Amino acid sequence: MGERALQGVSAAPGIAVGHAVVLDRGGSHASGNVREADRLGEAARARDALRLAASDLENIAEDLRHAGRGDDADIIETGVLMAMDPELIGRVETLILHTGLEAADALREAAEQTALELSMLPDPMLALRADDVRSLGRRAAAHGKGDAPRVSEGVLIADSLGPADVAELAPTVRGIALAGGGVTAHAAIVARSLGLPMVVGAGADLLKIVNGEEVVVDGDRGVVIRKPDAERAALARVDTEQRRSARELAIARRLEPAQTTDGRTIRVLANASTVAELEEATRQGAEGVGLMRTELLFLEAADWPTHEEQVAVLRPVLARLQGQTATVRLFDFGGDKTPPFLRGITARGIEVMLNAPEGLKTHLAAVVDAGRGADLRLLVPMVMSAGDMRAVRHVLATVLEGRDAPKVGAMIETPEAANAAAAIAAQCDFLSIGTNDLTQLVLGLDREQSRKAPVLDPLVLSLIAATVRAGRDAHIPVDVCGEAASDEKSLPIIVGFGTDELSVAAARVGQVRQWVRELDFADCRRRSEALLGQSGNTSRQRV
Ligand code: PEP
Ligand code: MG
Repeated sequence: MGERALQGVSAAPGIAVGHAVVLDRGGSHASGNVREADRLGEAARARDALRLAASDLENIAEDLRHAGRGDDADIIETGVLMAMDPELIGRVETLILHTGLEAADALREAAEQTALELSMLPDPMLALRADDVRSLGRRAAAHGKGDAPRVSEGVLIADSLGPADVAELAPTVRGIALAGGGVTAHAAIVARSLGLPMVVGAGADLLKIVNGEEVVVDGDRGVVIRKPDAERAALARVDTEQRRSARELAIARRLEPAQTTDGRTIRVLANASTVAELEEATRQGAEGVGLMRTELLFLEAADWPTHEEQVAVLRPVLARLQGQTATVRLFDFGGDKTPPFLRGITARGIEVMLNAPEGLKTHLAAVVDAGRGADLRLLVPMVMSAGDMRAVRHVLATVLEGRDAPKVGAMIETPEAANAAAAIAAQCDFLSIGTNDLTQLVLGLDREQSRKAPVLDPLVLSLIAATVRAGRDAHIPVDVCGEAASDEKSLPIIVGFGTDELSVAAARVGQVRQWVRELDFADCRRRSEALLGQSGNTSRQRV
């Protein structure tokens, strides 16, 4: 049998290959067989196990604080409070005293019941604590059985994980894949800040993977590959090694400009939606944020998030960007990024928002408020025409009420937008090319399944070049924020077209800055012009 792909969602970038370490297959425990006479003792054992788990978490948090990772430590410390929650302890005791479960099973089961309750809460932030409780239950259960939680080399496969698991396992784990989980779950946040590739939401089939089986976790494309072929595994190894050495070099050279050998400076920004990603990007020399994918932070929302809910989630990231470029993309809902309250929609990106004027108004006001003090740029997703931009600007004008007006730019990621780039540019303060969707839409590919985006396709290139030209003519900066901006092959061509900015995954910022320093701009221009010459021929042939 050949390769088997399990589709999930990208939670942390990078590709890793390794032997699977299956942490948790879940399962519930309806009844147990602890004798009545032994149940009080078993309950005491369970309480001790919870105390030990809490003390583990305190130690992990303290280590993180010493390593300068206070935010991660804060996240993990909330687990200590959960371990002392009287309701959880009461549940554990009931399961032991009334049902005769063993301490370990009762701890897991009580944690699962609490997690299920949390996951059904309308507040997405509380719902995300569900995995943290499960993680606590698993840790306490290990103590209840007398096993210390294990640290294992390889690719971690689990149903769900808490942030403490990730922080503790990170030094030896190469990548993580979860059957459940969300991209905004704390475990994912910690994974991103550590540069660990991670895929979440890969479904129940993920747990059929057996311990020791070779798997690839492709955190860039959100896919887990069972039985990877030799080429795929080799590519993953190369990726791991490149990320490690690039990171070391990037941090050492973070203050050097990203300037080609013949003096063209490119601004390198980060695709970052969380504090942890932003911190990693800053460590690697990012000059601001070029793409904050706001929709990823609200994928579990039960309704349009309120102004306060949005500010609470966006402000912690944007507050760290005082005086720096903060490009906040408006919700790009639709397709595989459809929250429960929008199920069934066929529209995507700005069309969804324009269909919900009140939702758009609240969103715009919240982003402007959350971004105060930053050089705020609003980025409009899935634009189809200049009319979309005029409509957004019109709504924005109605919510500003004396607030500073942000810059407004269009994502050029549909062929329609690329073909109308000049008219769209006339309505914009900047343009940002989304090569991920553009490539898929132009070539009719399945974005999630293809191994490499064929960013050097002449037709796609000609649309990128036309967009950059439109930006030049309108005297506005042009950014590329899709994966092509951090692809070694397409980067010189994109730079050669005259792109001003590249926005790339946080963990890739340093590598991209280094690649730019190794380029000769005149040479890049020659290469891109030569490819465009071919594209002229190709497009004429195809039309
Ligand atoms: C893109 O399409 O290139 C892009 C950056 O947007 P996303 O990947 O979030 O769809
Ligand atoms: Mg896109």
